[in-house]
Amino acid sequence: MVEQKPMRGPFKGWRRLALWKQIFIALIAGLVVGVALNMAGMPEVATAIKPIGDLFIRGIKMLIVPLVFVSLVTGVSSLDDLSTMGRLSIKTVALYLITTAVAIVIGLVLAVVFQPGSGVAMVTDEAVKVQEAPPLIDIFLNLVPTNPFESFVEENVLQIIVFAIFFGVSIALVGEKGRPVREFFESAAEVIYRLTAIIIAFAPYGVFALIAWVAGSYGLELLAPLAKVILLVYIGCIIHAIVVYGGLLKGLAGLNPLRFFQGVMEPGMVAFTSTSSAGTLPVSIMATEQNLGVSRRVSSFVLPLGATINMDGTALYQGICAVFIAQVYGIDLGMPQYLIIVLTATLGSLGTAGVPGAGLIMLSLVLTSVGLPLEGVAIIAGIDRLLDMARTAVNVVGDCAVASIVAESEGQLDEEAYNTPHVLGSGSDT
Ligand code: ASP
Repeated sequence: MVEQKPMRGPFKGWRRLALWKQIFIALIAGLVVGVALNMAGMPEVATAIKPIGDLFIRGIKMLIVPLVFVSLVTGVSSLDDLSTMGRLSIKTVALYLITTAVAIVIGLVLAVVFQPGSGVAMVTDEAVKVQEAPPLIDIFLNLVPTNPFESFVEENVLQIIVFAIFFGVSIALVGEKGRPVREFFESAAEVIYRLTAIIIAFAPYGVFALIAWVAGSYGLELLAPLAKVILLVYIGCIIHAIVVYGGLLKGLAGLNPLRFFQGVMEPGMVAFTSTSSAGTLPVSIMATEQNLGVSRRVSSFVLPLGATINMDGTALYQGICAVFIAQVYGIDLGMPQYLIIVLTATLGSLGTAGVPGAGLIMLSLVLTSVGLPLEGVAIIAGIDRLLDMARTAVNVVGDCAVASIVAESEGQLDEEAYNTPHVLGSGSDT
């Protein structure tokens, strides 16, 4: 063991703080520093800090492929009964789809009522290249990898999930002879979890740098005409999280929503600053297991799946943006168009990667489905990072909510752990 010198003064106090408090303080401090730099006309200093954030993101990204594969194989291979897997999948996917559809409806209603696009005469000469969204059938076909190693290299999480499920199920079916392989993966999972904990301890510094960069580089003149859209997306996200997730946790699983929101602070804030649900995955897995008592079996399946297919925040944002763009261009949308938007955005969310800006690309799919001008994407592009922060936080919190509900329904949630305040991170307070 390496001998550690006792810490003194403020450092000791800082290290003792629970991780979510450290991250929260970093978030506020980053915001203040970023705004100050912007007002002082020094956004380049904020940009200079960004690599610290990038380093943290690279660290957590490094974990995604091994973590998803190893923990999912461990989870699936330990299922004594394969019908459990089927039941788990159905519940998870059903909850994901339903909450996503509800999210778009919330977005549509907010945008229709509050009219963010009326009075906005937007001329963008900025030629943002509109990327094509993939056809829906390809999204389904691409679930099955032709070469799993290629999926690892390309970080295709959905394909890794599919391969890991087949692999884990086969280990379970082989029985006694498969035991050494299973034990190997169990041990590897412990190692990766340890590594994850080490990297997550750097979250506050990464969060500080990223938020300072965002706040430092967005000037008010860019935000003013689109303030209503930004506000609506944030309000919609808050409503969705509190009403829909809070309601489902209480109503379906009898769980205390307040404890839930406290338990998802770390992944929520990391998602907010990193704008990547896939990147936040290691933090979500650790938080749901340690703070909310969700079993590894459930978290290792539900969360990676959610990080790739469950995008409630993105869907809500697409609903608002579609209506906003229609209003800006003076196009009237009717009930059939709203239904098409709900359907396209729900299915489209299955194919939206959990990476920064993916929702903007899928927005083009939604706009095309109802014949709205794709140039609308260019209007949104300028402020997309700010919208991405809110929607990614909701995407991740939604994954964690579904993991908790499914775990509770399967008897896979440790209620004592759920109701005990925080354990994630090195801090000793709660
Ligand atoms: N950034 C989002 C996520 O990772 C996806 C999106 O762009 O909407 O969940």
